[in-house]
Amino acid sequence: MDLELKGKLAVITGGSKGIGLGIARTFAREGANVLVNARDSKALEAAARAISDDFGTTAIPVAADVSTAEGCEAIIKAAAAAGGADIFVSNAGTGSNETVADAPDEKWMDFWNLHVMAAVRLSRGLADQMEARGGGAMLMNASICAVQPLWYEPIYNTTKAALLMFGKCLSSEMIKRNIRVNTVNPGLIRTPDWENTARELRGESWEAYLQEVADEHADIRRFGTVEELADFCVFLCSPRASYSVGSAYHVDGGMLKTV
Ligand code: NDP
Repeated sequence: MDLELKGKLAVITGGSKGIGLGIARTFAREGANVLVNARDSKALEAAARAISDDFGTTAIPVAADVSTAEGCEAIIKAAAAAGGADIFVSNAGTGSNETVADAPDEKWMDFWNLHVMAAVRLSRGLADQMEARGGGAMLMNASICAVQPLWYEPIYNTTKAALLMFGKCLSSEMIKRNIRVNTVNPGLIRTPDWENTARELRGESWEAYLQEVADEHADIRRFGTVEELADFCVFLCSPRASYSVGSAYHVDGGMLKTV
């Protein structure tokens, strides 16, 4: 299937590793140019260079912290300078670990800024560019935890639930401008982040730990690969998914325990 993405510009936050990098590489594989963002400029530039080398498309690195207004503005300006965005994937994010009783206000605000305000500011700023180019697509990367919480991370669960609702509200507004908005709720996706956590918890038997997590949570009894998720996300952002509007899609190997 031709995803009709050749020559489009896709903006992906958190694009230096893990899921964001997988999504960026998949867009590039389909002939799209990408603007990738993360805070660590060295890792980001290396990732962008590898994308250009491997797929022959343009990969623009923009080192910025999306949890700040200035960071979002830098991305919006860089996308405009490249001719304007056609696609936006709000992906940057991270897990948390706390109890409601102990977590200070600052921690709640930091995660609110990272998971929600980044999506608010970037979608607002990039929408004008997309409209000027005839329309586009936006994808919020929330989490299964937006609807089925894990007990140790109430701040993550709550801010991802807010992102899911934001995507729905944004969709109604944006479709009038020919911009489709959807949300993806991944389950267990094997990223360096998960592997590092497993190593910290279990040392040499870290792979056994990951298997235990998969056995406990996912009916399919394994983690998903970044590529499995990225293929789904890139399809959703492509013109071939033109009737998918304002929906949330679980990519979770059967982890969700409700209908
Ligand atoms: P990783 O930790 O592997 O990658 C996170 C990326 O985001 C990195 O590129 C990181 O780069 C960047 N990033 C983090 N904070 C910021 C910031 N403030 N500004 C700009 N960039 C930032 O995470 P994953 O790939 O595992 O997760 C990606 C997204 O998917 C997250 O939103 C996560 O919640 C979601 N998700 C992941 C699941 C999983 O199982 N892996 C399951 C469900 C959802 P740098 O540190 O240099 O800024």
